[in-house]
Amino acid sequence: MAESELSANVVDIRRFSTHDGGGIRTTIFLKGCNLECSWCQNPESISGKVEPVFLPSRCIGCGLCLEVPGGAASRVGDRIYVDATRVGADWEALTRVCPTGAITWNARSYTVSELVELAQRDRAFFGTDGGVTLSGGEPLFRPHFAAALLRALKQAGINTAIETALNVRTEFVLTALEWTDHVFADCKLLDVAAHRRHTGSGNERILANLEVLLTGPRRADVTVRTPLIPGVTDGDDNISAIASFLASLYPDVTYELLNYNPLAAAKYDLLPGREFLFPRDANPPMLGRSRLDELKSIAQAAGLRYVL
Ligand code: SF4
Repeated sequence: MAESELSANVVDIRRFSTHDGGGIRTTIFLKGCNLECSWCQNPESISGKVEPVFLPSRCIGCGLCLEVPGGAASRVGDRIYVDATRVGADWEALTRVCPTGAITWNARSYTVSELVELAQRDRAFFGTDGGVTLSGGEPLFRPHFAAALLRALKQAGINTAIETALNVRTEFVLTALEWTDHVFADCKLLDVAAHRRHTGSGNERILANLEVLLTGPRRADVTVRTPLIPGVTDGDDNISAIASFLASLYPDVTYELLNYNPLAAAKYDLLPGREFLFPRDANPPMLGRSRLDELKSIAQAAGLRYVL
């Protein structure tokens, strides 16, 4: 199969983004991740498969879905409920009868050439700094697709970036790097036991990949990020340990502290079978300015010069 015909499941394409790299960007969220962070902001991206979804806010109560065999749709009081986990339900038939898109899938498959064509349409808005960012999920979860897409974008003259957790084989990172202008790499927790507890996986491979990136010739093209999850990653010890580790590799790396978005919990309600492991009731507000400044000072004291 030609590389341009390789396909992958895409959960979302966000256009005109200003948060996923330099300039104005089109961000492609690929489905599939090999971490299961308890606080995941994009839980719909964890599974690599296209999943059925019922969106109650779009339902107008027309009742057409009640006629579809399989028993997934039922009337509950004066509302309709459609069970996306119902065994034997013909979800494709349900999506066809639903006039509003309340019954739908949470992703669709795109080929490399389709995504390059979409990016080309946004090209006028990219300017000199903008371009395409691959996010997820984990964009390197499908390494051959990611490399083919990045290569095709670069060959089309489009700036590329990836947002990765780096929990993949080093060869996949280095192959992607050949066609990537900037890498945004997560470093969530330095303690391996805590990392395993909160993400379902150890961090040995992530730290090894960070070492390769931050001691290699492209180290100036890497930004390391820590999402500040209250009570999990936002402790002084964790930030100090991460910053010390990074400073030992490359003190000039840009290190970014990302504030937590407590709104993600609502996404889990649309994903039956996937549990939000972070306690909802305890969702504290995002960190305030003074605490963010404190954490930045800790990272700087550990030896990093550029902390955002
Ligand atoms: S067909 Fe769609 S809009 Fe109509 S009741 Fe069913 S879910 Fe709601």
